[in-house]
Amino acid sequence: MQQTSPGFGILLFVRKFGLLVGIFVAAVLLCGLSTSAQTQSSAATQSSVPPIPARAALNVVVVDPAHGGIDAGGRGTEGIRESDVVLEFASQLKKALEAQGFQVVQTRDGNDNPSFDDRSARANAQRGAIFISLHVGSTGVIGTARVYVSREFAAVTDTTGLIPWDRAQAPFVSLSHKLGDLVQIELAKRFKGSPSAALVAPVRQLRTTAAPAIAVEISSVSVRDRADLDRMVPGIADAIARGVVAFRPSYVIPTLPSAAGGGQP
Ligand SMILES: [Zn+2]
Repeated sequence: MQQTSPGFGILLFVRKFGLLVGIFVAAVLLCGLSTSAQTQSSAATQSSVPPIPARAALNVVVVDPAHGGIDAGGRGTEGIRESDVVLEFASQLKKALEAQGFQVVQTRDGNDNPSFDDRSARANAQRGAIFISLHVGSTGVIGTARVYVSREFAAVTDTTGLIPWDRAQAPFVSLSHKLGDLVQIELAKRFKGSPSAALVAPVRQLRTTAAPAIAVEISSVSVRDRADLDRMVPGIADAIARGVVAFRPSYVIPTLPSAAGGGQP
């Protein structure tokens, strides 16, 4: 339904036609766009940019079971496929987050493989969202878990206020680090040998996401028995949910370098 997500339409138009390889992050953030499941009056989104609340509530967690389809991700010698384990991982995380009152949107529910951009677009169309990508490593000490966040990079806009699609994460990096550290602290309490703070890594999925975004990786697909990983998952889900709850008071919509319409406090 077109009028429920006009900004997302802009976003797709921009990507599809390649006129500006960018996303209208300001519109996405400021117009309060949501999924088609959430109805929204077109009148509210057709006017110019509405006043921007300095603080917005964190309501939605976009959970991304990485890989899928022909991309199995990491594969262990015992036939364990990362793409399968992360689906179970996502399902338990969803329950833990819903128990804390969050709405959970998954980038995939089955064995399909949405593109990086399609996965980011699920988060970029939400208001008040964070993004969590789930992985099972091929390496690392078995029984540990790590959080990865994007490195800092400059948030730039073009003359129309568009942020390039591949820089969507830039305004959110410090929030992502805060979220990542809070989740990593909880993981380290339960999984000895895990780092005490989030690690910086160039995770492709995070770069195009216009929301606080982290990747969580557990080790590893090289366990002898998948049950060893399955046993970790409830504790991982609980730790992530606790980290997200701890992050909730810190959630703000960041100031963009030159938001369309100005007036950003
Ligand atoms: Zn992976």
